Amino acid sequence: MTTQSEGRTRIVRLATWLTAPPDEAFADAARDGELLVARVRTWLTLLLLLLPLSSIAMRPDSAQHYIGLVVTLMAVAMAVSMERSLQRRPFHRGIPFFSSIIDVSLVSLALFAFWLVDQPIVTTNSRVVWEVYLIVIAASALRYDPRVTAVTGIMAGFQHVVLTLFTWATHRGDGLLVASEEYGVFSWNTQLSRTMLLGAMTVVALAIVGRTQRLRRMSTNDQLTGLFNRLYAEEFLSNEVLRTARANGSLVVAMLDVDHFKKFNDRHGHPAGDAALRSLSRVIRDRVRRSDMVARYGGEEFLLVLPNADVQSALDALDQVRIAVGLTDIPLPKGGVDRTQVSIGVAAWGVDARTKEGLLEIADARLYEAKEAGRNRVVGPGTEGANLPFQRA
Ligand code: GH3
Ligand code: MG
Ligand code: MG
Repeated sequence: MTTQSEGRTRIVRLATWLTAPPDEAFADAARDGELLVARVRTWLTLLLLLLPLSSIAMRPDSAQHYIGLVVTLMAVAMAVSMERSLQRRPFHRGIPFFSSIIDVSLVSLALFAFWLVDQPIVTTNSRVVWEVYLIVIAASALRYDPRVTAVTGIMAGFQHVVLTLFTWATHRGDGLLVASEEYGVFSWNTQLSRTMLLGAMTVVALAIVGRTQRLRRMSTNDQLTGLFNRLYAEEFLSNEVLRTARANGSLVVAMLDVDHFKKFNDRHGHPAGDAALRSLSRVIRDRVRRSDMVARYGGEEFLLVLPNADVQSALDALDQVRIAVGLTDIPLPKGGVDRTQVSIGVAAWGVDARTKEGLLEIADARLYEAKEAGRNRVVGPGTEGANLPFQRA
Protein backbone atom coordinates (compact mmCIF):
# COMPACT_ATOMS: atom_id res chain seq x y z
CA MET A 1 0.00 0.00 0.00
CA THR A 2 2.77 2.35 0.97
CA THR A 3 4.59 1.84 -2.30
CA GLN A 4 1.36 2.42 -4.19
CA SER A 5 0.70 5.75 -2.47
CA GLU A 6 4.38 6.63 -2.81
CA GLY A 7 4.10 5.96 -6.52
CA ARG A 8 1.02 8.14 -6.72
CA THR A 9 2.79 10.96 -4.84
CA ARG A 10 5.69 10.70 -7.27
CA ILE A 11 3.36 10.93 -10.26
CA VAL A 12 1.59 13.95 -8.75
CA ARG A 13 4.97 15.60 -8.07
CA LEU A 14 6.10 14.89 -11.64
CA ALA A 15 2.85 16.28 -13.05
CA THR A 16 3.17 19.42 -10.90
CA TRP A 17 6.73 19.93 -12.09
CA LEU A 18 5.77 19.38 -15.71
CA THR A 19 2.99 21.95 -15.59
CA ALA A 20 4.47 24.60 -13.28
CA PRO A 21 5.75 27.84 -14.78
CA PRO A 22 9.54 28.03 -14.58
CA ASP A 23 11.46 29.90 -11.94
CA GLU A 24 11.98 33.60 -12.66
CA ALA A 25 15.66 32.91 -11.96
CA PHE A 26 15.73 31.15 -15.34
CA ALA A 27 14.31 34.02 -17.37
CA ASP A 28 17.73 35.29 -18.50
CA ALA A 29 19.12 31.81 -19.16
CA ALA A 30 15.98 30.95 -21.16
CA ARG A 31 16.38 34.08 -23.27
CA ASP A 32 20.05 33.28 -23.93
CA GLY A 33 19.10 29.71 -24.85
CA GLU A 34 16.41 30.98 -27.21
CA LEU A 35 18.88 33.32 -28.91
CA LEU A 36 21.42 30.52 -29.30
CA VAL A 37 18.80 28.27 -30.87
CA ALA A 38 17.71 31.12 -33.16
CA ARG A 39 21.29 31.62 -34.35
CA VAL A 40 21.81 27.88 -34.95
CA ARG A 41 18.47 27.75 -36.78
CA THR A 42 19.55 30.55 -39.13
CA TRP A 43 22.92 28.94 -39.91
CA LEU A 44 21.39 25.50 -40.33
CA THR A 45 18.76 26.69 -42.80
CA LEU A 46 21.45 28.65 -44.72
CA LEU A 47 23.56 25.49 -44.92
CA LEU A 48 20.53 23.46 -46.01
CA LEU A 49 20.19 25.89 -48.90
CA LEU A 50 23.31 24.28 -50.40
CA LEU A 51 21.41 21.03 -51.01
CA PRO A 52 18.78 22.26 -53.51
CA LEU A 53 21.31 24.67 -55.03
CA SER A 54 23.82 21.94 -55.78
CA SER A 55 21.02 19.66 -57.04
CA ILE A 56 19.85 22.41 -59.40
CA ALA A 57 23.43 22.95 -60.62
CA MET A 58 23.65 19.25 -61.45
CA ARG A 59 20.14 18.82 -62.87
CA PRO A 60 18.63 22.19 -63.77
CA ASP A 61 15.65 20.56 -65.51
CA SER A 62 14.22 18.83 -62.44
CA ALA A 63 11.17 20.60 -60.96
CA GLN A 64 11.60 18.81 -57.61
CA HIS A 65 14.78 20.70 -56.85
CA TYR A 66 13.09 24.06 -57.40
CA ILE A 67 10.38 23.07 -54.94
CA GLY A 68 13.13 22.14 -52.49
CA LEU A 69 14.76 25.52 -53.06
CA VAL A 70 11.53 27.42 -52.42
CA VAL A 71 10.80 25.46 -49.22
CA THR A 72 14.36 26.01 -47.93
CA LEU A 73 14.24 29.72 -48.78
CA MET A 74 11.01 30.01 -46.80
CA ALA A 75 12.70 28.31 -43.87
CA VAL A 76 15.67 30.74 -44.11
CA ALA A 77 13.33 33.74 -44.17
CA MET A 78 11.46 32.45 -41.15
CA ALA A 79 14.67 31.69 -39.23
CA VAL A 80 16.10 35.15 -39.92
CA SER A 81 12.90 36.95 -38.93
CA MET A 82 12.62 34.89 -35.72
CA GLU A 83 16.20 35.76 -34.77
CA ARG A 84 15.67 39.44 -35.54
CA SER A 85 12.46 39.79 -33.57
CA LEU A 86 14.10 38.04 -30.63
CA GLN A 87 16.91 40.58 -30.62
CA ARG A 88 14.58 43.55 -30.93
CA ARG A 89 11.55 42.74 -28.83
CA PRO A 90 11.31 42.04 -25.10
CA PHE A 91 11.41 38.35 -24.30
CA HIS A 92 7.99 36.80 -23.80
CA ARG A 93 7.49 33.52 -21.93
CA GLY A 94 5.42 32.10 -24.79
CA ILE A 95 8.25 32.42 -27.33
CA PRO A 96 10.02 29.11 -26.48
CA PHE A 97 6.76 27.19 -26.99
CA PHE A 98 6.13 28.93 -30.28
CA SER A 99 9.66 28.54 -31.65
CA SER A 100 9.97 24.87 -30.61
CA ILE A 101 6.68 24.02 -32.30
CA ILE A 102 7.79 25.94 -35.41
CA ASP A 103 11.06 23.97 -35.46
CA VAL A 104 9.30 20.62 -35.14
CA SER A 105 6.88 21.67 -37.89
CA LEU A 106 9.74 22.75 -40.16
CA VAL A 107 11.22 19.24 -39.90
CA SER A 108 7.82 17.74 -40.71
CA LEU A 109 7.43 20.17 -43.59
CA ALA A 110 10.84 19.19 -45.00
CA LEU A 111 9.83 15.51 -44.76
CA PHE A 112 6.50 16.29 -46.38
CA ALA A 113 8.34 18.05 -49.24
CA PHE A 114 9.67 14.62 -50.27
CA TRP A 115 6.12 13.30 -50.35
CA LEU A 116 5.19 16.21 -52.61
CA VAL A 117 7.95 15.32 -55.08
CA ASP A 118 6.90 11.65 -55.12
CA GLN A 119 9.63 10.28 -52.89
CA PRO A 120 7.48 9.00 -50.00
CA ILE A 121 10.16 6.56 -48.93
CA VAL A 122 12.33 9.56 -47.99
CA THR A 123 9.43 10.98 -45.96
CA THR A 124 9.26 7.81 -43.88
CA ASN A 125 12.91 6.66 -43.97
CA SER A 126 14.87 9.93 -44.23
CA ARG A 127 18.38 9.60 -42.84
CA VAL A 128 19.24 13.22 -42.12
CA VAL A 129 16.07 15.30 -41.95
CA TRP A 130 14.18 13.12 -39.46
CA GLU A 131 17.10 13.23 -37.03
CA VAL A 132 16.64 17.00 -36.74
CA TYR A 133 13.56 16.20 -34.60
CA LEU A 134 16.03 14.85 -32.05
CA ILE A 135 18.13 18.03 -32.19
CA VAL A 136 15.01 20.16 -31.75
CA ILE A 137 13.95 18.16 -28.68
CA ALA A 138 17.48 18.35 -27.22
CA ALA A 139 17.64 22.11 -27.87
CA SER A 140 14.32 22.58 -26.06
CA ALA A 141 16.25 21.88 -22.85
CA LEU A 142 18.05 25.21 -23.39
CA ARG A 143 14.77 26.94 -22.47
CA TYR A 144 14.95 25.46 -18.92
CA ASP A 145 11.19 24.93 -18.89
CA PRO A 146 9.93 21.33 -18.61
CA ARG A 147 6.65 22.38 -20.22
CA VAL A 148 8.48 23.49 -23.37
CA THR A 149 10.38 20.20 -23.61
CA ALA A 150 7.22 18.15 -22.99
CA VAL A 151 5.28 20.07 -25.65
CA THR A 152 8.18 19.76 -28.13
CA GLY A 153 8.49 16.01 -27.58
CA ILE A 154 4.74 15.43 -27.86
CA MET A 155 4.50 17.56 -31.02
CA ALA A 156 7.43 15.74 -32.64
CA GLY A 157 5.92 12.34 -31.81
CA PHE A 158 2.49 13.39 -33.02
CA GLN A 159 3.70 14.87 -36.32
CA HIS A 160 5.99 11.89 -36.95
CA VAL A 161 3.11 9.43 -36.44
CA VAL A 162 0.65 11.48 -38.54
CA LEU A 163 3.16 11.86 -41.38
CA THR A 164 3.99 8.15 -41.33
CA LEU A 165 0.34 7.06 -41.33
CA PHE A 166 -0.51 9.57 -44.04
CA THR A 167 2.40 8.50 -46.27
CA TRP A 168 1.61 4.82 -45.76
CA ALA A 169 -2.09 5.35 -46.47
CA THR A 170 -1.45 7.33 -49.65
CA HIS A 171 1.29 5.12 -51.09
CA ARG A 172 0.76 1.58 -49.87
CA GLY A 173 0.49 -0.65 -52.86
CA ASP A 174 1.97 1.73 -55.42
CA GLY A 175 5.52 0.41 -54.96
CA LEU A 176 6.97 3.77 -54.05
CA LEU A 177 7.57 2.74 -50.43
CA VAL A 178 10.06 0.07 -51.56
CA ALA A 179 11.46 2.06 -54.43
CA SER A 180 14.70 3.31 -53.00
CA GLU A 181 18.07 1.59 -52.95
CA GLU A 182 19.41 4.25 -50.65
CA TYR A 183 16.45 4.42 -48.25
CA GLY A 184 15.33 0.80 -48.30
CA VAL A 185 11.88 -0.50 -47.48
CA PHE A 186 9.07 1.01 -45.40
CA SER A 187 8.79 -0.91 -42.14
CA TRP A 188 6.47 -0.47 -39.16
CA ASN A 189 9.27 -1.69 -36.91
CA THR A 190 11.49 1.19 -37.93
CA GLN A 191 8.66 3.67 -37.46
CA LEU A 192 7.88 2.32 -34.01
CA SER A 193 11.57 2.47 -33.04
CA ARG A 194 11.70 6.06 -34.24
CA THR A 195 8.66 6.98 -32.16
CA MET A 196 10.34 5.41 -29.14
CA LEU A 197 13.55 7.33 -29.88
CA LEU A 198 11.60 10.60 -29.82
CA GLY A 199 10.14 9.58 -26.46
CA ALA A 200 13.56 8.64 -25.09
CA MET A 201 15.08 11.92 -26.28
CA THR A 202 12.27 13.83 -24.59
CA VAL A 203 12.89 12.01 -21.32
CA VAL A 204 16.64 12.77 -21.55
CA ALA A 205 15.96 16.45 -22.29
CA LEU A 206 13.51 16.61 -19.36
CA ALA A 207 16.14 15.07 -17.09
CA ILE A 208 18.64 17.71 -18.21
CA VAL A 209 16.12 20.48 -17.44
CA GLY A 210 15.38 18.96 -14.02
CA ARG A 211 19.06 18.59 -13.16
CA THR A 212 19.85 22.12 -14.27
CA GLN A 213 16.99 23.50 -12.20
CA ARG A 214 18.23 21.61 -9.16
CA LEU A 215 21.79 22.85 -9.57
CA ARG A 216 20.60 26.39 -10.11
CA ARG A 217 18.37 26.20 -7.04
CA MET A 218 21.26 24.93 -4.96
CA SER A 219 23.32 27.94 -5.96
CA THR A 220 20.59 30.55 -5.49
CA ASN A 221 18.46 29.20 -2.64
CA ASP A 222 18.90 28.73 1.05
CA GLN A 223 18.78 25.09 2.07
CA LEU A 224 16.93 25.51 5.37
CA THR A 225 14.10 27.78 4.24
CA GLY A 226 14.05 27.37 0.46
CA LEU A 227 14.08 31.17 0.12
CA PHE A 228 16.69 32.87 -2.07
CA ASN A 229 20.15 33.20 -0.55
CA ARG A 230 22.21 36.32 0.03
CA LEU A 231 24.16 35.94 -3.22
CA TYR A 232 21.01 35.87 -5.31
CA ALA A 233 19.39 38.65 -3.26
CA GLU A 234 22.27 41.04 -3.92
CA GLU A 235 22.28 40.24 -7.63
CA PHE A 236 18.52 40.74 -7.77
CA LEU A 237 18.75 44.05 -5.90
CA SER A 238 21.54 45.32 -8.21
CA ASN A 239 19.39 44.57 -11.25
CA GLU A 240 16.28 46.12 -9.72
CA VAL A 241 18.16 49.30 -8.79
CA LEU A 242 19.32 49.63 -12.42
CA ARG A 243 15.84 48.94 -13.75
CA THR A 244 14.23 51.39 -11.33
CA ALA A 245 16.74 54.11 -12.23
CA ARG A 246 16.12 53.58 -15.95
CA ALA A 247 12.36 53.80 -15.57
CA ASN A 248 12.50 56.31 -12.71
CA GLY A 249 10.22 53.87 -10.95
CA SER A 250 9.86 52.81 -7.34
CA LEU A 251 11.58 50.17 -5.28
CA VAL A 252 11.40 49.30 -1.60
CA VAL A 253 13.97 47.33 0.38
CA ALA A 254 13.27 45.83 3.80
CA MET A 255 15.56 44.17 6.30
CA LEU A 256 13.75 41.88 8.73
CA ASP A 257 15.25 40.36 11.87
CA VAL A 258 13.74 37.98 14.40
CA ASP A 259 13.50 39.49 17.88
CA HIS A 260 15.38 37.79 20.70
CA PHE A 261 15.95 34.73 18.62
CA LYS A 262 18.87 33.68 20.75
CA LYS A 263 16.48 33.32 23.67
CA PHE A 264 14.09 31.25 21.54
CA ASN A 265 16.97 28.90 20.73
CA ASP A 266 18.07 28.77 24.34
CA ARG A 267 14.55 27.99 25.50
CA HIS A 268 13.56 25.39 22.92
CA GLY A 269 16.76 24.18 21.31
CA HIS A 270 18.32 24.66 17.88
CA PRO A 271 15.96 22.31 15.97
CA ALA A 272 12.98 24.34 17.22
CA GLY A 273 14.80 27.48 16.08
CA ASP A 274 15.20 25.94 12.63
CA ALA A 275 11.51 25.06 12.53
CA ALA A 276 10.70 28.64 13.50
CA LEU A 277 12.83 30.01 10.64
CA ARG A 278 11.08 27.71 8.18
CA SER A 279 7.62 28.68 9.37
CA LEU A 280 8.59 32.36 9.39
CA SER A 281 9.78 32.09 5.79
CA ARG A 282 6.45 30.70 4.69
CA VAL A 283 4.55 33.46 6.49
CA ILE A 284 6.67 36.17 4.86
CA ARG A 285 6.47 34.59 1.39
CA ASP A 286 2.68 34.27 1.66
CA ARG A 287 2.21 37.91 2.66
CA VAL A 288 4.06 39.54 -0.25
CA ARG A 289 3.45 39.63 -4.00
CA ARG A 290 4.82 36.98 -6.35
CA SER A 291 7.07 39.57 -7.95
CA ASP A 292 8.63 40.50 -4.59
CA MET A 293 11.90 38.84 -3.71
CA VAL A 294 12.36 37.31 -0.27
CA ALA A 295 15.79 36.06 0.79
CA ARG A 296 17.43 34.69 3.89
CA TYR A 297 20.16 37.26 4.25
CA GLY A 298 21.89 35.85 7.31
CA GLY A 299 21.13 33.59 10.29
CA GLU A 300 17.75 35.00 11.37
CA GLU A 301 17.77 37.99 9.10
CA PHE A 302 15.73 38.33 5.89
CA LEU A 303 15.95 40.74 2.98
CA LEU A 304 12.87 41.72 1.01
CA VAL A 305 13.00 43.59 -2.28
CA LEU A 306 9.66 44.97 -3.46
CA PRO A 307 9.87 46.29 -7.03
CA ASN A 308 7.29 48.80 -8.28
CA ALA A 309 5.91 49.27 -4.78
CA ASP A 310 4.81 52.64 -3.50
CA VAL A 311 6.23 53.38 -0.06
CA GLN A 312 2.98 53.53 1.88
CA SER A 313 1.55 50.27 0.55
CA ALA A 314 4.91 48.58 1.08
CA LEU A 315 4.94 49.75 4.71
CA ASP A 316 1.38 48.48 5.15
CA ALA A 317 2.25 45.12 3.62
CA LEU A 318 5.36 44.80 5.79
CA ASP A 319 3.34 45.63 8.87
CA GLN A 320 0.96 42.84 7.89
CA VAL A 321 3.97 40.54 7.70
CA ARG A 322 5.02 41.63 11.18
CA ILE A 323 1.53 41.04 12.60
CA ALA A 324 1.18 37.67 10.84
CA VAL A 325 4.53 36.46 12.19
CA GLY A 326 3.51 37.47 15.70
CA LEU A 327 0.28 35.45 15.40
CA THR A 328 1.85 32.30 13.99
CA ASP A 329 2.15 29.32 16.30
CA ILE A 330 5.36 27.41 15.85
CA PRO A 331 5.00 23.74 16.78
CA LEU A 332 7.91 22.69 18.97
CA PRO A 333 9.66 19.34 18.50
CA LYS A 334 9.13 18.56 22.19
CA GLY A 335 5.42 19.40 21.96
CA GLY A 336 3.49 22.61 22.47
CA VAL A 337 3.84 25.82 20.51
CA ASP A 338 5.55 29.18 20.81
CA ARG A 339 5.57 32.42 18.83
CA THR A 340 8.19 34.87 17.59
CA GLN A 341 8.20 38.53 16.65
CA VAL A 342 10.14 40.52 14.10
CA SER A 343 11.54 44.01 13.60
CA ILE A 344 11.71 45.50 10.12
CA GLY A 345 13.80 48.38 8.71
CA VAL A 346 12.66 49.84 5.38
CA ALA A 347 14.37 52.02 2.75
CA ALA A 348 12.87 53.39 -0.45
CA TRP A 349 14.66 54.08 -3.72
CA GLY A 350 14.66 57.78 -4.60
CA VAL A 351 13.51 58.74 -1.11
CA ASP A 352 16.40 57.41 0.96
CA ALA A 353 19.07 56.38 -1.54
CA ARG A 354 19.64 55.50 -5.19
CA THR A 355 22.26 52.78 -4.87
CA LYS A 356 22.13 49.21 -3.67
CA GLU A 357 24.66 49.91 -0.90
CA GLY A 358 22.80 53.04 0.21
CA LEU A 359 19.47 51.23 0.39
CA LEU A 360 20.91 48.31 2.36
CA GLU A 361 22.69 50.64 4.75
CA ILE A 362 19.57 52.69 5.51
CA ALA A 363 17.31 49.64 5.83
CA ASP A 364 19.85 48.17 8.25
CA ALA A 365 20.10 51.41 10.26
CA ARG A 366 16.29 51.55 10.52
CA LEU A 367 16.21 47.93 11.63
CA TYR A 368 18.61 48.91 14.39
CA GLU A 369 16.31 51.84 15.28
CA ALA A 370 13.36 49.43 15.47
CA LYS A 371 15.31 47.22 17.86
CA GLU A 372 16.33 50.22 19.97
CA ALA A 373 12.75 51.46 20.10
CA GLY A 374 11.55 48.20 21.64
CA ARG A 375 11.36 45.66 18.75
CA ASN A 376 8.24 44.17 17.06
CA ARG A 377 7.83 47.16 14.77
CA VAL A 378 8.40 48.55 11.29
CA VAL A 379 10.61 51.61 10.84
CA GLY A 380 10.64 53.29 7.44
CA PRO A 381 10.74 56.60 5.60
CA GLY A 382 8.03 59.20 5.93
CA THR A 383 8.58 60.87 9.28
CA GLU A 384 11.82 62.80 8.66
CA GLY A 385 10.34 66.17 9.68
CA ALA A 386 8.97 64.87 12.95
CA ASN A 387 12.31 63.44 13.99
CA LEU A 388 10.48 60.26 14.76
CA PRO A 389 10.78 57.20 12.61
CA PHE A 390 7.66 55.72 11.06
CA GLN A 391 6.60 53.21 13.66
CA ARG A 392 3.88 50.74 14.30
CA ALA A 393 4.12 48.96 17.59
P1 GH3 B 1 17.71 40.79 18.55
O1 GH3 B 1 16.28 40.98 18.93
O2 GH3 B 1 18.55 41.92 18.97
O3 GH3 B 1 17.86 40.51 17.11
O4 GH3 B 1 18.20 39.52 19.38
P2 GH3 B 1 18.66 38.14 18.80
O5 GH3 B 1 18.81 37.21 19.95
O6 GH3 B 1 17.75 37.69 17.74
O7 GH3 B 1 20.02 38.52 18.11
P3 GH3 B 1 21.44 37.86 18.07
O8 GH3 B 1 22.08 38.38 16.85
O9 GH3 B 1 22.13 38.08 19.36
O10 GH3 B 1 21.19 36.31 17.92
C1 GH3 B 1 20.78 35.74 16.75
C2 GH3 B 1 20.56 34.31 17.03
O11 GH3 B 1 20.02 33.63 15.90
C3 GH3 B 1 21.83 33.60 17.39
C4 GH3 B 1 21.74 32.28 16.68
O12 GH3 B 1 21.79 31.21 17.57
C5 GH3 B 1 20.41 32.29 16.00
N1 GH3 B 1 20.50 31.69 14.68
C6 GH3 B 1 21.11 32.19 13.59
N2 GH3 B 1 21.00 31.33 12.54
C7 GH3 B 1 20.29 30.27 13.00
C8 GH3 B 1 19.85 29.05 12.39
O13 GH3 B 1 20.07 28.75 11.22
N3 GH3 B 1 19.15 28.19 13.18
C9 GH3 B 1 18.86 28.48 14.48
N4 GH3 B 1 18.15 27.61 15.17
N5 GH3 B 1 19.28 29.61 15.06
C10 GH3 B 1 19.98 30.51 14.35
MG1 MG C 1 17.52 38.84 15.97
MG1 MG D 1 20.33 39.24 13.63
